[in-house]
Amino acid sequence: MAISGISRSVTASALQKAALGSPATSQTATSSASGGSGTGGSTSLLLNALADLTAVLQSYANASPGPILATSGPAPETLPITKDAQGGTAKVSNALSQITTDPEGQKLIQLAEQKGYKIEIGSTGEKAAATTDSKAKKIVVDINAKGLDSYNLTATIAHELVHASTDGNGDSLLEESLSTAVGNRIAKRADGRPETAAEATADFKKIYSDYKAAYKGDGAVNGRQDNGILKALQSLGLDVSPFAGVI
Ligand SMILES: [Zn+2]
Repeated sequence: MAISGISRSVTASALQKAALGSPATSQTATSSASGGSGTGGSTSLLLNALADLTAVLQSYANASPGPILATSGPAPETLPITKDAQGGTAKVSNALSQITTDPEGQKLIQLAEQKGYKIEIGSTGEKAAATTDSKAKKIVVDINAKGLDSYNLTATIAHELVHASTDGNGDSLLEESLSTAVGNRIAKRADGRPETAAEATADFKKIYSDYKAAYKGDGAVNGRQDNGILKALQSLGLDVSPFAGVI
């Protein structure tokens, strides 16, 4: 990870030097033209100097293409896809790149990547479209799961990344609900329709209520209502204010 980041940063720097090399050469020509205007002060020399200056400014403008800005800065982290039993690598890669360009998604991916998580595409053997195995450090995505369109795939993987990035504290009803709420928030932003705080709160309340109804008895997952997930997400730098104190 670190090696890849350094390598990209060197490439961007080299590109920048190469791009700046062209105007620097032209500038030398301008200096000599300006020197010429000093000796005679003739109009034609001044016009030549102005023409050179225009050329230099133009070359600077041409030498600042978008790709240099796009490749500068740290390379986004992502998770390796180590197995694809269903031919879904392109779809999962696309979802991962959406998540990694989201400010909150990037935090989740970075932590999951540091913990050594990988992604496998195959049957989860359950009703869930995806599962997180905290022991094997892998997220399994069933690309053929019903209703798993591009938006839901991003939301589902982001949900699993909440589990993966906070895998030291087990699971709970609150963690399941928050994972879905955060996953939806990331997917909606990636889809160009970010939630307001009020919408995020309403979304979370409904999700929690649905999960609670699905888990009869005490309403807990793995016997617990809460496993400290709200504080864990807050410490990762995620905005939990729309979810805190509403249930
Ligand atoms: Zn879950």
